[in-house]
Amino acid sequence: MIIGIDDTDSPAGMCTTYLGAVLIGRLGQAGIPVGEARLVRLNPNAPFKTRGNAAICIEAEGNPARAFSIAAALIDELADLSCENTNPGLVVTTERPDPTFYRECVRDFCTIDGAEALLRENRALYRGWKNGRGLIGATAATASVLPDRTFELLAYRRREAWGTPRSVDRPSIFAAEAATYPHTWDSVDRENGVVVCVPHTPDPVLFGVRGESEAWVREARAVIRAEETGIEQVWVTNQGTDAHLKNGTIGRLLEGRSYRVPGTVDGRAATGTGGHVRLALLGTDGEMLRCMAYEPTKGFRDIVRALLPGDEVLAVGSYKNGSLNLEKLRADRLAEDRVLRPPLCPDCGRRMTSAGRGKGYKCRDCGRRTKDPQVVVTPRSIRTGWHEVPPVARRHLSKPLVRDRTP
Ligand code: ATP
Repeated sequence: MIIGIDDTDSPAGMCTTYLGAVLIGRLGQAGIPVGEARLVRLNPNAPFKTRGNAAICIEAEGNPARAFSIAAALIDELADLSCENTNPGLVVTTERPDPTFYRECVRDFCTIDGAEALLRENRALYRGWKNGRGLIGATAATASVLPDRTFELLAYRRREAWGTPRSVDRPSIFAAEAATYPHTWDSVDRENGVVVCVPHTPDPVLFGVRGESEAWVREARAVIRAEETGIEQVWVTNQGTDAHLKNGTIGRLLEGRSYRVPGTVDGRAATGTGGHVRLALLGTDGEMLRCMAYEPTKGFRDIVRALLPGDEVLAVGSYKNGSLNLEKLRADRLAEDRVLRPPLCPDCGRRMTSAGRGKGYKCRDCGRRTKDPQVVVTPRSIRTGWHEVPPVARRHLSKPLVRDRTP
């Protein structure tokens, strides 16, 4: 059977993955062996998400009704039901629901009715608490198929430590990444000197290590020194796989979806208040797209600022409030950075001046005339190929470029 759960947490605490980790222990105690534990991230623009729009599913062997009652009791015990926005969903199914629902949920928007119709079709056991919205994520998790997958080891805090400052040895996290990169990634942001894998929210997560296999995340974890943990769980995930992206066309993008969009840079990027950078891209139909590189994307903004009119790029990000919020971009063709200026006089060597619009140049000293300007070509400061936001600004689903470079 597959057990799916979502929407158990609130900004004040809890975390659906923690509840899942506790459930794995309880199922084991009840003699229900557990197989794969999966953490899926769904549409990062879903309006009711608490943080990272995560849902979980667990494969197990045993009596579905018994597993259902153990999971339901745990949701009653741990979910933050006092929060208006916490509406848990629980699904137990012996057959994987149609994966189309998962794909829609990670790239688009789904409804509770749609989830329930699929669950009825599957003769699944299910329950929604309060408005039942969590059934969407719980159903999507059970329906998920992952053509690409990564791993995350999540270390959870002991209950008595919840809400207190986290004690994690910072240098040991840098050492863990140094020992295992590029097979693990995004534990730290070296360029910005920041630890990325320790949350600042009041949930039970102490840290999470992301990587290409269970062995690699365990190896990195072994280097990290921190307060004593409660449970540790390795999850199979769709994180870092670009599962949220569709191919899009400028002028035909829909709000709340994430795209790869080709376009031509229409003008130099502008930096606004707060350090947010804005870039206009032109589509083939003459439609314009505003792309944003927000201040938290740090050095990535310099890449965007280095683009010039005429550059051809593939922009990647979520389309929200009429802007594409950049996660990465590929520079496919860079225009020549050329500036025309009056030439030097071939006779006396002084800089000539314009002789009037369309009339070429003339030398103020010797009167010599010429039609052609001097063409100054400056080498481009960026290269063709992919450029990405730093780890500190990475979205859960966004595929780090290093994953394509690691053999
Ligand atoms: P946690 O990571 O701890 O689960 P969260 O950030 O994932 O928190 P949730 O509390 O799970 O956020 O809230 C997300 C809500 O949005 C859930 O009820 C989920 O069912 C719903 N949801 C997720 N994806 C979609 C989607 N594509 N369309 C509509 N609703 C969605």
